[in-house]
Amino acid sequence: MIPFVDLKAQYLGIKDEVNAAIQGILETSQFTLGQEVAAFEEEFAAYCQARYGIGVNTGTSALHLALLAAGIGPGDEVITVPFTFVATVAAIHYTGARPVFVDIDPRTFTMDVRGIEAAITERTKAIIPVHLYGQPADMDPILEIAGRRGLVVIEDAAQAHGAEYKGRRVGSLGDMGCFSFYPGKNLGAYGEGGMVVTDDPDYTRTIRMLRDWGAEQKYRHVLKGYNYRLEGLQGAVLRVKLRYLEVWTEARRVDAAHYDELLAGSGVATPEAMAYARHVYHIYAIRTPQRSAWQEALQAKGIHTGIHYPIPVHLLPAYADLGYAPGDFPHAEQAAGEVLSLPMFPELTRAQCEEVGEAVALLAKQPDIEDA
Ligand SMILES: *Cc1c(COP(=O)(O)O)cnc(C)c1O
Repeated sequence: MIPFVDLKAQYLGIKDEVNAAIQGILETSQFTLGQEVAAFEEEFAAYCQARYGIGVNTGTSALHLALLAAGIGPGDEVITVPFTFVATVAAIHYTGARPVFVDIDPRTFTMDVRGIEAAITERTKAIIPVHLYGQPADMDPILEIAGRRGLVVIEDAAQAHGAEYKGRRVGSLGDMGCFSFYPGKNLGAYGEGGMVVTDDPDYTRTIRMLRDWGAEQKYRHVLKGYNYRLEGLQGAVLRVKLRYLEVWTEARRVDAAHYDELLAGSGVATPEAMAYARHVYHIYAIRTPQRSAWQEALQAKGIHTGIHYPIPVHLLPAYADLGYAPGDFPHAEQAAGEVLSLPMFPELTRAQCEEVGEAVALLAKQPDIEDA
């Protein structure tokens, strides 16, 4: 059996350090925020080449607070993509602003920058590019348009810890960058977690207050805040794991290169890494019009796959009120119907890659396979 991800294999490799870090929190009893979280904020911000990091309880909260710090609220519009995890859009909705979608570039699965200008209105306040699957969106044109039109850029880097755009780490390219430490992400907590990174001291001050009930000091609430604090246990575990992130990222890149090699010439559409990118392969997604048949055939061989994501957000029932219809974003819709995520995690062995690659290449040789 080849799992889609294997969090236990990773734990076994760092067990003693993780156990000691958890023990440390039990001893100090700093269960929420505290020294380990503060140290992790500094270390992760530095890793992202940003000045400040503000730890929060989820990646969704990171996006929510980044939008609030940018002053976004009812009556505003925020541009993003429909081909993303629903959280990107939910965070916009939480502020009362309206999500406005731009289609994706089918080569990269990230925002098609050629669609941005047409989506801007006098209500537009921000753009949220999503570095989907671990590949940065094409940031230069996005930053150029945002600069010219006075828009804030908030990166959704939830899938892209350590990814680089033209040699610079994501998260520090826009005004703010938002990360998730959901267990399955490239840097995962043992529970939930998230962070905003930024170079801006004002955004930092506001987000620090908002995550902790809007308090400037204890019981002096100057903003209407939230309980979005990062737990001490998560900070302590994430500090240990951050020390391994580069090694794990390189392992993912090696696995991706193996898949690329194994599938070269097979006719299977493999992910395209752009020349500007250090792709960190949170997800390695191939494309096939016969996806359900392929997924079933692989499952029958014990190979677990995933679909990220089967329905673009503009067609989800929850967001029907936005008024979008099938056909509005054809590249997002086609990708949602065709993408298939192969097993991808740092501990995946070369032999496992070969087993998966060979199984997929074999499927590509059966053009008349029935789509289930
Ligand atoms: C995971 C994810 C989020 C949300 O992060 P949580 O920590 O689960 O709240 C937001 N955007 C994208 C693209 C994600 O993959």
